[in-house]
Amino acid sequence: MKFEEYPIAAEIKRNIEALGYKKPTDIQFKSIPAILNKEDVLAIAQTGTGKTAAFAIPVIHLIHERKRNRAKDAIKCVVMVPTHELAIQITQVFNSLAKHTKVKAFALFGGTEQQPQIDKLYQGVDILVATPGRLFDLRSQGYLDLSDIEILVLDEADHMLDLGFIGDIEDLIKFLPKHRQTLFFSATINEKIKKLAYSLVHKAIRIQISPKDPVAKNIQHAVAHIEMDDKRFFLERVIRENEGKKMIVFVRTKVRAERVAAAMQKAGIDTLTIHSDKDHKNRTDVMRQFREGKVRVLIATDVSARGIDIPNVDFVVNYDLPEVPENYVHRVGRTGRGMQKGQAVSFCSREEEPVLKEIEAFLGKPVVKLAVDQDTREEVLDYTEATKFTIKDVMREILEAEQTPVKKGKKKK
Ligand code: AMP
Repeated sequence: MKFEEYPIAAEIKRNIEALGYKKPTDIQFKSIPAILNKEDVLAIAQTGTGKTAAFAIPVIHLIHERKRNRAKDAIKCVVMVPTHELAIQITQVFNSLAKHTKVKAFALFGGTEQQPQIDKLYQGVDILVATPGRLFDLRSQGYLDLSDIEILVLDEADHMLDLGFIGDIEDLIKFLPKHRQTLFFSATINEKIKKLAYSLVHKAIRIQISPKDPVAKNIQHAVAHIEMDDKRFFLERVIRENEGKKMIVFVRTKVRAERVAAAMQKAGIDTLTIHSDKDHKNRTDVMRQFREGKVRVLIATDVSARGIDIPNVDFVVNYDLPEVPENYVHRVGRTGRGMQKGQAVSFCSREEEPVLKEIEAFLGKPVVKLAVDQDTREEVLDYTEATKFTIKDVMREILEAEQTPVKKGKKKK
């Protein structure tokens, strides 16, 4: 199936082509016809699968048609998302797919002045991509009329629940028309999410993307055993060996993010940090610098980075293993977006081994192990320029290792 064959407006097809999408991804193939058919959808899909366009393409088409039939000016679709970064990013996807149509999307989120947002709303918006908190506030103050909503999208519903947005979501639902189309997207599913989903959708089409291997096929990922105190030296090495590549380094806490950044600074490596202590302006600046490639190493915590789509991230380093196993999938999913290839390496210390076991249980299979022998370890810690161990070489081994059972205690010569 090609995008050309979908019954969608020619303008949207041109925009898809301009974005360089050649054929639909799995989630797009499964959801676009159902959404165009005005069905409710309940989809389990991680970021990186192309899920934003999976709902944006048909939603824009449906609203475009309504506008051609002179529907009244009003907000027709609300997309609820967990973070302001995600709100901005999804709005960008909507607006690039809606070019040359009259459909307009706008991002609404907290932590910033509300008056400019209110002014923008009065200029006319068709699709509102919003975090539940600010949406709730503006509606309570009477600035938002949600009575003409025809489509409700919940994106990253599991993350919204984790962030405690359930109350806001339930309150907001009361103000939406009962007769509407609901599209529910979550990366994971459990009893709580199912309960919320089934309270919102009606006779939904269920879609599940790669349930067996939650890490996308185009991402090579592996783990190296590296003790806590040695991690910074190995990180320095990985960064130097991947000159020119964009890299996200995940750490457990915001304090650690700053410490790792300081350690890299000492080694003469520029990095950016993003975590919840940074204000909105700072986070936006950091994301811009990273997107533009001004600084190519971003040190992040889980919460701040979830759902962010940064094109061309070549490498993910799990400096610390994530405490919640499913975050492993979200983290490595920052690379290998869409059809691109990506690489990820995790540093696992002795203390973190139980966490690695949990991650492997979640993935349903072991993560490929990279052998780091004593010579290599000493070499990295000695700061020598010798290149016996290169992450590049070892990453190349991953493909081979994936074909064979995990080799325990394998020594690299
Ligand atoms: P998402 O899962 O929505 O965060 O999308 C992940 C990435 O895939 C984004 O960078 C999109 O631009 C890209 N993408 C989405 N759909 C396609 C497609 N059909 N072909 C190629 N890339 C795509």
